[in-house]
Amino acid sequence: ASAANPRIILPAALFGARRNSAGLEFGERAGFERFLARRNEAANKRVALEGASVPVRSPVDGSEVGACRPLSEAEARALMDRAARAVRATGQVPVSRRAAALRGAADKIEARGAEFTALLAREAGKTIDDAIAEIREAADFLRFYAGEAERVFGHAEALPGPTGEENKLVHRPRGVVVAISPWNFPLAIFIGQVAAALAAGNVVVAKPAEQTPLVAGIAVSILREAGISADALHLAVGDGAVGAALVAHPACAMIAFTGSTETAQAINRALAAKSGPIVPLLAETGGINAMVADATALPEQVADDVVSSAFRSAGQRCSALRLLFLQADVADRVVEMIEGAAAELVVGDPADPATDIGPVIDAEQKRMLDEHVSAMEREKRVRFKGKLPASLPPGGHWVAPAVVKLDRPEQLTREIFGPVLHVVTWKAGELDKVCDAIEATGYGLTLGIHSRIDETIRTVSERLSVGNVYINRNTIGAVVGSQPFGGSGLSGTGPKAGGPNYLQRFAIEQVVSTNT
Ligand code: GLU
Repeated sequence: ASAANPRIILPAALFGARRNSAGLEFGERAGFERFLARRNEAANKRVALEGASVPVRSPVDGSEVGACRPLSEAEARALMDRAARAVRATGQVPVSRRAAALRGAADKIEARGAEFTALLAREAGKTIDDAIAEIREAADFLRFYAGEAERVFGHAEALPGPTGEENKLVHRPRGVVVAISPWNFPLAIFIGQVAAALAAGNVVVAKPAEQTPLVAGIAVSILREAGISADALHLAVGDGAVGAALVAHPACAMIAFTGSTETAQAINRALAAKSGPIVPLLAETGGINAMVADATALPEQVADDVVSSAFRSAGQRCSALRLLFLQADVADRVVEMIEGAAAELVVGDPADPATDIGPVIDAEQKRMLDEHVSAMEREKRVRFKGKLPASLPPGGHWVAPAVVKLDRPEQLTREIFGPVLHVVTWKAGELDKVCDAIEATGYGLTLGIHSRIDETIRTVSERLSVGNVYINRNTIGAVVGSQPFGGSGLSGTGPKAGGPNYLQRFAIEQVVSTNT
């Protein structure tokens, strides 16, 4: 990307762009300039949440973005007590009002797109196109779950029965839902969980990631302005201990969690140790996501899709490509193209439209990534490492994109959450072995297949129990309603976010049988 020609898709609602007859959106340059001007105005505004005392630092340069007030564990428990007292009244709010509030919040989030773009860059290191995609997704979640609330909760479903008996299935709120969200989608995933829980008539206690409380704080204030009562939605800023206190509380009726596999497993253990009701956990975690490309695939397209899947958002998506299986006949040519494209990527300040890769979220993530790449360098496996420009803001957590060549897929033993792509080759006749290796990771989130042979596509996709299969395209950026998102195994429990079965998970089913 260059400053003169930013590689950005400009969504209509944010830039006043038009739709063509095919429903595609086209941005206008002038609209983008106006948008950037508004964003720049918002960029220097300090964000302080109520009672703020602890500074929130930017991954871009370590500067103070604003401040928040983390709860103590005792305060977290008191918040759960308050939430529990609001369950009955919240459950009585009509579906139409809940849906209207969520749709209103979607409009408000879009209207404040420039401000969110500035804050997502400063608090989470998001590039402009990533921020725009995230704002779009947050609005999509709100509108989608509003519609789902009307569909699922709007009426009782008649079930069959003998003459003289009437059977009806209704969905009712669960009570207090604890929503725990990650720093890599501080707006979209935070809003997605909260919107689903609210749409289903629950009271929500939402704990954003420690690194990104400010975006969450603004999102909560918007939901309240849009008509969600302060009793129905509570923000719990804090660290893992606060999360643990929420999970352990007797009022917790369900947990919606997105984050690491280890934390999901820890929540599972905490729930197992609890007495009282059996509490369901909906978890969306990580993946050692693979892409399989054979010799019939279009090399240019493979390279383009690999680069966006592995390096966009600095590789900090749970959908990102980690392990590329290239058929040996074409491997050298495709890897060369990937490296050529990766060398063009600009690592830099996410506020700059020319930037492709912003910082990683914090010093700890940078340390883990640097250590991994250094270990691979010691083993002489690093084929390519991008350059960091000299002009990068000091104090930022910069990681250059890298391509690592492995002899065997088992050499990648864990999810590397950053811009590091691992490549292995396979030979004709080894497709089964490739599938075995992917299966052996235990994860099942995204899978890419690049091939022009239908049989290959069918064999690989039918063989593997992954949540989202992407054929001849990239593996990121699932669209709400079109590509419901989530996996299985070590990658999570399902049901899928943004899909037709998600909202039901936030409800209990009640069947009413009447002798008429
Ligand atoms: N839904 C996002 C995507 O499709 C990934 C979500 C995540 O990283 O948790 O890229």
